[in-house]
Amino acid sequence: MKNILIDVDDTLTDFLYKRNNLIKKYIKDNKLPYKIIDINCTKSAKVANWPLDSCIKFWHDIGTEEQLNCKPQKNCAKVIKNLKNNGYKIIIVSARPDIYYEAYKYTKAWLDKQKIYFDVLIIGQQDKKSAMLNNNIDIVIDDSISTITSASELNLKSFLFTTEENKNFVLPENCIRVSDWKQIEKLIFKQ
Ligand SMILES: [Mg+2]
Repeated sequence: MKNILIDVDDTLTDFLYKRNNLIKKYIKDNKLPYKIIDINCTKSAKVANWPLDSCIKFWHDIGTEEQLNCKPQKNCAKVIKNLKNNGYKIIIVSARPDIYYEAYKYTKAWLDKQKIYFDVLIIGQQDKKSAMLNNNIDIVIDDSISTITSASELNLKSFLFTTEENKNFVLPENCIRVSDWKQIEKLIFKQ
């Protein structure tokens, strides 16, 4: 059996650009004295020059519900099911913190709603390298440069989901850049 680590945000979800535009609109609509500093940033606290309190309030006011209703990446549920049926163990790992919302509860609700299969769900995991070691991971799928770098340090095969934030990142050995789940499926099964 091979163990696959799969990230949530911008690997399974397709929410980053919508979320960042919501932040922009939220600041404008509420006449908050903050500016957008990085519209492509994957961390909501760093999208604007706002204090953490205001970012948390955004999540409570509209972010959580919008996230629960966000779309999955095309074909991810189908491909993950296929991987499961072919003996892969699906380990979903996210750094989503509880400060914005009850991260485990909301993430599980979203995965269930989208019928995305998993064997293990780990939430609030900032240190994905430990998660790779603790779960005997063989393959990593993520959009984060630091996660891909960790995978490379452990000599694991990885797939980097392209985003605006990582598009110029020079890939380490053993890493393949991808833009959709069908491409991942093809690459995994041809190994
Ligand atoms: Mg991510």
